[in-house]
Amino acid sequence: MYAWLAVVLLAILACVIFMAGLFVTAWRHTLAQVEASGLRYRMRCESCGFEFELSPREFARSGMRRSRSTTRTRAKGVALVSQPHYHYVAKRFVCPACGERAWCENLNANEARDVVNPIALRSFGAALVVLVVTGFVLRAVLV
Ligand SMILES: [Zn+2]
Repeated sequence: MYAWLAVVLLAILACVIFMAGLFVTAWRHTLAQVEASGLRYRMRCESCGFEFELSPREFARSGMRRSRSTTRTRAKGVALVSQPHYHYVAKRFVCPACGERAWCENLNANEARDVVNPIALRSFGAALVVLVVTGFVLRAVLV
């Protein structure tokens, strides 16, 4: 009775860990590819107005983010694709000029989105395909 429960719980746990691992891999892959694309984030300190550049890895490091965007839907081939159009994106960084931990506005958010989106879709799309295939295999084995 309890042995069954333990097996089921372990199976669920294994699935969760596997999925988390898959998404971490996809995230690392995305970051490496964006880094390789040569994209630089142009930032402006809201405290003193100093402008500086960050690499994707540095930009991703700050977790505090605020943004304002509207969603635009447009036709792409036969598909309707909706993506955000950013009016304002800012993250908190230590400004290299004034040394303050301030909100820094990202000045090329839409350009960054155009570089990041296709890469992220490819990486996470691949991760999703692996998940679906694994799902079928698990069902074939378990049911
Ligand atoms: Zn500053």
